[in-house]
Amino acid sequence: MRCWLLFHRELAPDVPEAAEVMRFQQVAARLGIDLKVLQPRDFELIVDSADNWSAIYQGKSLPKPDLIIARTGSETSYFTLAVLRHFERQGVAMVNGPTAIESVADKLQTLQILSSAGLPIPKTILGKFPVDVGVVERELGFPVVVKTLKGTRGNGVLLCKDREQFGDLANLLDGASPGADFIFQQYIKSSHGRDVRVLVVNGKAVAAMERRSADGSFKSNISLGGIGTCFDPPPEMAELAVRVTRALGLDVAGIDILFDTHGYRICEANSSPGFQGLEKACGISVPDAIFAGMRERLGLPSRPRGSS
Ligand code: ADP
Repeated sequence: MRCWLLFHRELAPDVPEAAEVMRFQQVAARLGIDLKVLQPRDFELIVDSADNWSAIYQGKSLPKPDLIIARTGSETSYFTLAVLRHFERQGVAMVNGPTAIESVADKLQTLQILSSAGLPIPKTILGKFPVDVGVVERELGFPVVVKTLKGTRGNGVLLCKDREQFGDLANLLDGASPGADFIFQQYIKSSHGRDVRVLVVNGKAVAAMERRSADGSFKSNISLGGIGTCFDPPPEMAELAVRVTRALGLDVAGIDILFDTHGYRICEANSSPGFQGLEKACGISVPDAIFAGMRERLGLPSRPRGSS
């Protein structure tokens, strides 16, 4: 199998993504997969009316791959999306495709899609400044969760305990970053400091990890010190995670699920999920699971010929 992994190298080394790219490289080498790690911005995008394969990378023409793995996550720029669309139109299979990546990079759009699909989400309001605190209190109550639309790893997510604190924050946000996008969200109290990350590959929940904050924070992110333990999801939870990925058009995703008093609520979907914590907690190899899932989707034999 010939495969490209697209990744913004300039984000390394402070972004954990770089470690995950290395895991893909190790596993691809073991499986005999020809994996190239490429930077989207080093492509020359040439669009013309001829129907020929075209991929110019750092001035050289590249042959068509069987698969593109986009590990560009929520940092995906317009240029990267354009690169992905270029190859999608030329018939290359993708994990994940540009439409799905673009939708899930925006937390509100994710929730809009999930709500239209009838899936359970926390009630959410798009921030409008000056904020009508009365509307927020009536619709969501306090405490209330405040998030930036495009934040990741728990940055830009906080909990406001009451009307007064929320009013102060709203004024601060309005003055400090006019035009920035925030959402206000119902706080799922029964999930305080606890959620489950379910990894879905090709329509199957392949592993799950419960994350708990270690310091009493309501955020369970591993990057903020949360502790992950392998979790055997009840069938309804696994099924919910699969339905979320289907609704969002994702082939591979990390779906974060909150525990409500009765049932679950979807916190968010990640198109380029970090998986170091999950590998450690569950003793699995995520790149192996992804390559196997994609072989199945592409109708390729389960192991490359000649590999052990
Ligand atoms: P990020 O994408 O930055 O990780 P999330 O939206 O996933 O942001 O929020 C970070 C963490 O905060 C979640 O993993 C969860 O533990 C907690 N959290 C987020 N939204 C809620 C909510 N509505 N109710 C309760 N806890 C929440």
